Amino acid sequence: MTEIQENIKKLNSLLPENVKLVAVSKFKPKEMLLEAYDIGFRTFGENYVQELVDKWEALPKDIEWHFIGHLQTNKVKYIAPFVSLIHSVDSFKLLQEINKQAAKNGRVISCLVQIFIAKEDTKTGMEIEEFEKMLTSEEFSALKNIKVIGLMGMSTFTENLDLVREEFKSLKDLFEKIKSHTADNFDLKEISMGMSGDWPLAIEEGSTMVRVGSAIFGARN
Ligand SMILES: *Cc1c(COP(=O)(O)O)cnc(C)c1O
Repeated sequence: MTEIQENIKKLNSLLPENVKLVAVSKFKPKEMLLEAYDIGFRTFGENYVQELVDKWEALPKDIEWHFIGHLQTNKVKYIAPFVSLIHSVDSFKLLQEINKQAAKNGRVISCLVQIFIAKEDTKTGMEIEEFEKMLTSEEFSALKNIKVIGLMGMSTFTENLDLVREEFKSLKDLFEKIKSHTADNFDLKEISMGMSGDWPLAIEEGSTMVRVGSAIFGARN
């Protein structure tokens, strides 16, 4: 077994059954992804549209591709034909564009809304109030080609694990608060939180999807 294969096996053996591993493969060559593929692993996360499209074209078609980076509206069209899950929806405008491109492809695209939880970092994600407002709007209910199936959050990049835990807790609290909201395009099941450095903590706080890169593929340079 290669190191990558061993890393995946080890991680999968440590994760509770209800937690899905997304292998974050940004900047890593296709050969490395194939090593994971060869032991039956199928779920990869990418941050950049061009890189994702290149890998999708070159690699086996039964791979489940997750988009986890900042997504510009003008690039949604390139990934709409095949993407399995977009973790990083951070505006209503983006959700509308995903809906439009999904419709063009005759698809319903599953999405997570990225919520701003990192108290001490530059702001990424939707504010909680903005999200709740969106959810109850008629414009949101009208979107037939997207489905919001969960929330995503990134904690502050810090050694202070108390802060990280508190931020993960705030995402879980929001999840519990809104999961009973009903709409045809809304079915909250997933909480995407936790990366190489903090996934055990994220799981303690209720994560159902961990996005792990360097702990599988090695450091990025
Ligand atoms: C790069 C990245 C990851 C993986 O980070 P590691 O620390 O290498 O595990 C997870 N989530 C997002 C959004 C990323 O950009």
